[in-house]
Amino acid sequence: MDAMTNVIDETQARIDLAAALRMTARAGMHEAVANHYSVALSADGSRFLINPKWMHWSRVRASDLVLVDLNEGIDPVNVDRTAMAIHGQVHKLCPAARVVMHLHPVTTTALASINPPGMPPIDQNSARYFNRLAVDLQYGGMANSDEEGARLAGLLGNKSRLLMGNHGVMITAETVGEAWDDIYTFDRSAQIVIAAMSTGRPLLTLSDEAAEQTAIDWEGIKDFSIAHFEEMKLVLDAECPDYRD
Ligand SMILES: [Zn+2]
Repeated sequence: MDAMTNVIDETQARIDLAAALRMTARAGMHEAVANHYSVALSADGSRFLINPKWMHWSRVRASDLVLVDLNEGIDPVNVDRTAMAIHGQVHKLCPAARVVMHLHPVTTTALASINPPGMPPIDQNSARYFNRLAVDLQYGGMANSDEEGARLAGLLGNKSRLLMGNHGVMITAETVGEAWDDIYTFDRSAQIVIAAMSTGRPLLTLSDEAAEQTAIDWEGIKDFSIAHFEEMKLVLDAECPDYRD
């Protein structure tokens, strides 16, 4: 990012976004040829990169990503309407969220479909989200209108994560690497919580103090998230380097 203009370098953003899409497909967290990841290049969120309509994430290359300019006022033909509704509105209304990732991973969506949806702090991973998760309880069909996207953006408030009841999850961050590690860890946490719940035994929930301290500890190691992402890119470089093309 250019410190003077707060503009993100498009070439690097394309490579990182393509890498994140490939990693997510490898982890089996994506939904068929749906779901979207986006990166705002401009500080006001009006110009952002997003994956193209109905292309499988396992073969997306940096050059396949679509550059959307909200100032043009029309949806690009190769971007899904729900992507424009959710990502367009979040980038427009929450410009600090430079990266927006939205998924329906199986276990996360199971967690989003329990009454009430939430992430109980029962271990180091799940405590990362303690008091740091907004929850939507108003799912009403596919998010294909700007009004619905604006509603979701409003729910984020000052938080960076939204557990979308009956739907999935949205994660925002300043960089692709931080967002990727966060959405990956979120689904890992959901797997731990659902596995523990599935025993039928009571959860050994952490105290508020321990959960809060753990969340603070996570916030102190953002370099861990970046390292996770950079290591995964090295794996992709060895096994499918065409994501950079
Ligand atoms: Zn969705």
